[in-house]
Amino acid sequence: MIHRTDPARQAPWQAELAAAIRDPEALIRALGLPEGLCAAARIAHGRFPVRVPPAYLARIRPGDPRDPLLRQVLPLDCEQADQPGFSKDPVGDLAAQVAPGVLRKYEGRVLLTATGACAVHCRYCFRRHFPYAQSQAARDRWQAASAHIAADRSIREVILSGGDPLTLSDDRLADLMHTLRGIPHIERVRFHTRVPVVIPSRVDEGLLGWLDQARAAVVMVLHINHPQEIDEAVISACARLKVAGVTLLNQAVLLAGVNDDADVLAALSERAFAAGVLPYYLHMLDCVEGARHFAVDAARAAGLLEVVRARLPGYLVPRLVREQAGAPAKVPVPAVGAAIDCR
Ligand SMILES: *Cc1c(COP(=O)(O)O)cnc(C)c1O
Ligand code: SF4
Repeated sequence: MIHRTDPARQAPWQAELAAAIRDPEALIRALGLPEGLCAAARIAHGRFPVRVPPAYLARIRPGDPRDPLLRQVLPLDCEQADQPGFSKDPVGDLAAQVAPGVLRKYEGRVLLTATGACAVHCRYCFRRHFPYAQSQAARDRWQAASAHIAADRSIREVILSGGDPLTLSDDRLADLMHTLRGIPHIERVRFHTRVPVVIPSRVDEGLLGWLDQARAAVVMVLHINHPQEIDEAVISACARLKVAGVTLLNQAVLLAGVNDDADVLAALSERAFAAGVLPYYLHMLDCVEGARHFAVDAARAAGLLEVVRARLPGYLVPRLVREQAGAPAKVPVPAVGAAIDCR
């Protein structure tokens, strides 16, 4: 689903995307991890394939099975276990689809599942089971999506999600910007993306070119779960986006064994801020089949946030939220009716 063009005409970021590790044994060997991990990784990979771009691989400590970045991308045995309470569509996305690739859950905003492709495959992702084939807004050059958006003046913000919208080609994205320019009630365009983090070279002249065409304000919500994900290349990608006038926010997912630690969460906020990115959400894990080993219960999550709140300025404390099917917004944790654990 990645648009493969003539290799000679590929941008460097497209070559990096094409060079991503897509084989579990290759990942295990590249990092000098125990061969004993291979068999289980191969099976879990059959359900949701491995994908790790080289720039992300380089930030993983070799030889450490507990590395917090590795845990996000390595398929494990425990993904196979029977997981009552964990489902394929835990957040009710299928029910919220109002046109192909257009999700309408909240007032004033529509979310476009622009593409099924991602630059990295995160094991905890609720989209691991999503039937993308029927739901890609970019497929028809945004026609169905833009017709829906143009017809409803209550929509002020268009959110590009996926998959990851920044895996789309610059041509596709320029088309979208052009289309949205013609819809006067659209005031904000938001991208939910992990690409500037895992392939920072994506923030190139091509991207800055179509960004410059936006009439609406542009917001990018990055997805960084651990301070070790922010290296010099990420910092400079963020700096280029800032210069282009983009508002940069971060959402993380609270993940056992990755960032369920007040020191790590505080360091994440501070390091992101130093790169020009403000914390936005800290999401409770969606109860998606195969991800149970990442779950952190709500009481512990709220406790971790209290420690962070006591230590950092308020603007560096993310909002701890849970996505709840049918709710009018992300639900704060703890809140009445929200402190429901997966188990
Ligand atoms: C999360 C989400 C949004 C955005 O919610 P905000 O609280 O504005 O960040 C919009 N639409 C859908 C379908 C979502 O899941
Ligand atoms: S949608 Fe985001 S969290 Fe899910 S696999 Fe893609 S990059 Fe990872």
